[in-house]
Amino acid sequence: AAKHSGRNHFRLFDEGLRARLEVRRDCERDLSQALAEGTLEVWFQPIFGRDGRTVTNLEALVRWHHPVHGWVPPADLIAAAAIAGLTESLLRFILEQVCGKLCALRDRGRHDLSVAMNVSPREMAQIAVDEIVLGRLRLLGLPATALEIEITEETALDIEAVQGKLMALSRAGIRMALDDFGTGYSSLASVRQLRANRVKIDRSLVTGLTEAEDKRGLVQAVLGLGRALGLEVVAEGVETADDLATLQAMGCPFMQGYHLARPQSASDVLRLLDAHPFAGVEARVQRLGA
Ligand code: C2E
Ligand code: MG
Ligand code: MG
Ligand code: MG
Repeated sequence: AAKHSGRNHFRLFDEGLRARLEVRRDCERDLSQALAEGTLEVWFQPIFGRDGRTVTNLEALVRWHHPVHGWVPPADLIAAAAIAGLTESLLRFILEQVCGKLCALRDRGRHDLSVAMNVSPREMAQIAVDEIVLGRLRLLGLPATALEIEITEETALDIEAVQGKLMALSRAGIRMALDDFGTGYSSLASVRQLRANRVKIDRSLVTGLTEAEDKRGLVQAVLGLGRALGLEVVAEGVETADDLATLQAMGCPFMQGYHLARPQSASDVLRLLDAHPFAGVEARVQRLGA
């Protein structure tokens, strides 16, 4: 249709753009109120061991339902926060929810479960993430090893630019994960620079791997890399029973995806854990790569 009506096509494009700019402006305007009122939430998605049943840790994912525009994708939310000058407030809010979850887990005797939070390189560059995170953990008496930071390299240089902070976090005992491994710039060099404990294979390489020889080859290669370097490997985007069975057969130690569990609210995830086997010794053995 666009081919036959060039002008309409451009008008449509303009309106789409205008609508997006409007959403963006509204988000920038409403975010600080959402932070204050607690309409912003952090949800948690369980990550499982090789058996596909034992939860070994949780990933925190920010969720915002805007009163007019509905669910805001996390990437747009992070971008809006940056423009509105709320990067630090947002990070502190998410950290608070993550620490709250860690305390709740430990109250239930679940010292075996760590919680991972996502921090973008841009956030890492803009604010003193190391001081904020380590200060908060110290104040709450939580061990650094209970927290994991997942970072995605967005451009070739960004990990180098924040290396000092990454070192401070990793030296203090915070676990580091390289997210979306196998896409974009997340490279073998960044595994080293980041002192990563863990790599998370991007879901574009995982979902549907049973039928895709190329994906299976890449996943197998990352698993081998993990064994060679003593890195934990997580497969993201396990969407079907086939995905799960193939990954298990390949010896993938950790898995995450809709087939195993969706991201869910803070209280739902506690209920799920109460109904779940204790990770205990098995998970520790897996972590040691045995
Ligand atoms: P990510 O860190 O790679 O997180 C995994 C994303 O995949 C999440 O999307 C999760 O809901 C989704 N997912 C999990 N299992 C499956 C599956 O089986 N199939 C499919 N198709 N998707 C699955 P979400 O929550 O929309 O987050 C998107 C990205 O936004 C995250 O990717 C992360 O990079 C970023 N993000 C999320 N929360 C935060 C945050 O609090 N801070 C920062 N800086 N970034 C965040
Ligand atoms: Mg992540
Ligand atoms: Mg990822
Ligand atoms: Mg991602």
